[in-house]
Amino acid sequence: MSDNMPTLFTRIINREIPADIVYEDDQCIVINDIAPQAPVHMLVIPRQPIPRLVDATLSDQAILGHLMWVAGEVARVAGVDEAFRLVVNNGANAGQTVFHLHLHVLASKDDRQQFTEAQL
Ligand code: AMP
Repeated sequence: MSDNMPTLFTRIINREIPADIVYEDDQCIVINDIAPQAPVHMLVIPRQPIPRLVDATLSDQAILGHLMWVAGEVARVAGVDEAFRLVVNNGANAGQTVFHLHLHVLASKDDRQQFTEAQL
């Protein structure tokens, strides 16, 4: 893919591709994952398309912090603030498939269920 091509998530942010949007503000968007790996599986995505976490610079500290804060807020609204996980896949060898930084918010509302480890 050319570097100039909008990412899948940019196309979702621009409403070119439909998605189940659960939250958005001027800096980020949160969608439900299309292939959930847990009963609650949301993606916190910055509007700014940083490809991977390691591509972030010092000037991105504010947006990185904002993404973390939003992850906590959407977890609270989803009712899973007592037990959730954040995952960032960095690089194809770590399972990253969309090269537009995103935080996976994963939770089970049922204590008997376990997280799926595959691809997380
Ligand atoms: P990663 O593998 O960390 O890059 O995560 C990419 C995530 O995006 C995967 O969990 C996919 O299921 C999810 N995904 C891919 N396409 C869509 C889509 N159109 N809407 C919502 N989530 C998607």
